[in-house]
Amino acid sequence: MSATTLKPHQKELFGHPIGLYILFFTEMWERFSYYGMRAILVIYMIAQANHKDGAGLGWTELEALKLYGWYVMLVYVVSIPGGIIADRYLGQKKAVMIGAFILVLGHGTLAIESSWAFLTGLGLIILGVGMLKPNISTMVGGLYAKGDIRRDKGFSIFYIGINLGSLLATSVIGLIVAKWGWHAGFGTAGVAMLFGLIVYIWGQKYITHVGNKPTKQSKENDVSLVKIFSNIFNSPIHLVIFIALLAFSLYAGFTFEGVDHWGYGALFIFLSFVVALMMMIFKSLETQVEKDRFLVVLLSFFLVIVFWGAFEQAGGLMSIYTEQKTDRMLLGYLIPTPMFQGLNAGFIILFAVAIANFWAKRKLKNKEASSLFKMATGTIIMGLGFVFMVFAAKEYGIKGHSGMQWLVLAYLFHTIGELCSSPVSLSFVTKLAPAKYASLMMGLYFAATGLGGKVAGILGESAGDLGEYTIFSGITIFTVIFGLLVIALLKPLKRLTHGAEDNEVEMHNDETEGFELAD
Ligand code: GLN
Repeated sequence: MSATTLKPHQKELFGHPIGLYILFFTEMWERFSYYGMRAILVIYMIAQANHKDGAGLGWTELEALKLYGWYVMLVYVVSIPGGIIADRYLGQKKAVMIGAFILVLGHGTLAIESSWAFLTGLGLIILGVGMLKPNISTMVGGLYAKGDIRRDKGFSIFYIGINLGSLLATSVIGLIVAKWGWHAGFGTAGVAMLFGLIVYIWGQKYITHVGNKPTKQSKENDVSLVKIFSNIFNSPIHLVIFIALLAFSLYAGFTFEGVDHWGYGALFIFLSFVVALMMMIFKSLETQVEKDRFLVVLLSFFLVIVFWGAFEQAGGLMSIYTEQKTDRMLLGYLIPTPMFQGLNAGFIILFAVAIANFWAKRKLKNKEASSLFKMATGTIIMGLGFVFMVFAAKEYGIKGHSGMQWLVLAYLFHTIGELCSSPVSLSFVTKLAPAKYASLMMGLYFAATGLGGKVAGILGESAGDLGEYTIFSGITIFTVIFGLLVIALLKPLKRLTHGAEDNEVEMHNDETEGFELAD
């Protein structure tokens, strides 16, 4: 087909569909609003009436951190219903539109100075991210045909957008808050999301072929989720497993120590319903290939939880370590703690393409470059990054402070690990999930990252008793062993993928007449 007769969705830029860049900029602004708001959330909650940036909520540190932990986890857990709504009713494209709109409202509400607005705003953001995040990621996968080797790289480019948003936000929001106060900061996040929405609406013509509503026909052939779920009551074995799980959840949740045990109780119950739903979906799948692929995606989520459980120390324990125990003086200038978190986003922008190219080249040379291998390798590299934190803790024990080079090296390894793992996992989900559950599986992936974040919080809290040295070395040992275990089991695990990643070649949209996800 000649370039002039190409339809907008078939046009390409730098070797990728233009639709990728529409999703890139939409997500960039969404992440700008998310990370911008996240950067000031906790400090706003604990700021007293006489704070230099204006009156905050005056909460205690513990109250603020607790709410923050739940908020960050919920944002991702709500991706599960967000994914289901897209798969079953709206299609991803509309779900992203609605999510973006709710986010503009949510951030806008936070800009209002009142306590009702605070919780309402957070609630809206949780709903908005839940609708947008899993679905926009699924759409990226939909831009590439099955077996197109460009898909992994497409996700890496998309990942640069995510981090560009985060880097811009973390550099700008602090300055805005310092000049005009908290609510101007929240308002800026709202305006950023509005930009995202505008880009998305403008770019619709480039994504006509992805994320569309499930057709009537595909719905007719489908069994409804309620029906799938109610099947549990037809099988005594499943019913027993489900009840045992629920009983355990109730026990574990409600006996959990601390004031938020009701939250844990509710979370565990929700998770046991999710597990039950997974069992039923597995049963309802028609072919063994579908079943095996579904299973291997679910298994990969254990690796995802381990990865984020370690990685997310960045926002908690490592941040406190930077603030309190690191010598941050450079040439007579005190480097502010949040800047160290910016290292992650900066390294991603620098290395994303190089790392994606490295793996693509390996693949073309027929060397091991399966997603599971990359994810396991990423987990090991990230885990090794904690060795530098062990050195830091050791140095602190001797000198009473530690050098900032340890943090830079730790974040460098964490980022390389993240680039081998995170965009690859997104791509992996879109390659292997059954098409009609694509967004649900993506939602589940994000929920796994959110649970990892919660694990990270719990681990970080125990540093008070165990000491950083023990926590950092424990994380190194656990992640490296876990990653090696996955590599040892690579063969049987890969067998479950039934060659979904074999024989990948470059395909272009002008050669295929548009496509939807997977099968
Ligand atoms: N930093 C990435 C993002 O914001 C990954 C987050 C996650 O998967 N939990 O999209």
